[in-house]
Amino acid sequence: MKITQIRTIHFTNFPNITFLELHTDSGLVGLGETYYTPRSVTTYIEEVLAPQLMNTDPLQIEGFWRRAYDGSHVYGNKGLEMRCLSAVDIALWDILGQHTNQPVWQLLGGSSHPDGVLVYNTCASAGYAQGTPGVGRKNAPALTQQYRDFEAWHDDAGKLAKSLLDMGIKGMKIWPFDPFALANRGQTISWKELDEGLRPWKQIRDAVGLEMDVILEGHGYWALQPARRIAEALEPYKPALLEDLMKPDNPRTLAKLRESTRTPICASELLMNRYAIEELMQANACDVVMTDVAWSGGITEGRKIANMAETANMGMIFHDCTGPVTLAAALHLAVHCTNTWMQEIVRAYTLGYYRDLVDHDFVVENSRMHAPTRPGLGLALRETAFTREDCVVQVLAEAS
Ligand SMILES: [Mg+2]
Repeated sequence: MKITQIRTIHFTNFPNITFLELHTDSGLVGLGETYYTPRSVTTYIEEVLAPQLMNTDPLQIEGFWRRAYDGSHVYGNKGLEMRCLSAVDIALWDILGQHTNQPVWQLLGGSSHPDGVLVYNTCASAGYAQGTPGVGRKNAPALTQQYRDFEAWHDDAGKLAKSLLDMGIKGMKIWPFDPFALANRGQTISWKELDEGLRPWKQIRDAVGLEMDVILEGHGYWALQPARRIAEALEPYKPALLEDLMKPDNPRTLAKLRESTRTPICASELLMNRYAIEELMQANACDVVMTDVAWSGGITEGRKIANMAETANMGMIFHDCTGPVTLAAALHLAVHCTNTWMQEIVRAYTLGYYRDLVDHDFVVENSRMHAPTRPGLGLALRETAFTREDCVVQVLAEAS
């Protein structure tokens, strides 16, 4: 089997997602995905990865990964290069699964979570997927917003917690301190601002007691001193995790935050490969590791990161606040890895535009989600997706 065509699919209504298809001479099509900077992603794949992939055997995944990684080491290996490698890696695993007629989780060594993996809901609304950090919102039309969870936790987080529990979702993530970080450049938070940020936590505990696990997202905005102040103030509300109160770039200072709080520290999808995760572990800077398989090297690298966390007696969380292939790929890994703690989902996406674009319905039952069971990743872009007005297909390479 050989790769004979490489193309990207982009929907302008979802300006951050790039879908990647690897076509083979046997008729199998592998689907991958990554997130942010789609034009740069498309160019890098066309310029650098496509020549390495065309006319090669798509089943030699590990060898390809190492060649592509080593090939980009002279220009840094993190960010764009890893995101593009991730999209390709996921598509290659999809082909392997279809070729062997097995779901990816089976090929990894089977499922360790026959009941599915625990999920938590990141309380974003559908339009959140249309923004780009540092750039703001692109000119994409407003999406139908069935689950306006972002507005809901600003309005009454207790009511939102009840709505999630009614759907069988027992974990949620919010980021109420972000506005103060942006206003104060992350350098300080006043007692009054702190109290305002605590409001949704009070509402959740008043409404549902301890039924809901609540995670704080910090988006890496804070310096150490205010991060410590926030962590201390939250302790009475029993947060499940503190995620990225500070950037994980400096593991030694993150370790100082960890030493000063009893709440577990999660870090994070912002680290782009296992070498960065290794530095984090060496510094004793986290309690739980999160990774995004569509950013940090695909299923191949995600498995190694999870194995490192397992060796250090740490749980794994798999990130998805982005796209349906990211979630599917993460779920295959999540149900396989024995040390999976949780899978992140955004119900406004899984019950919204994911259903419009791909032919798999992500279902939550008793706060758990299963991986797709069809061969490969177990999902493909719907035929109707290609007839959408906002669909742009670009062929990057084709066998003559
Ligand atoms: Mg995060």
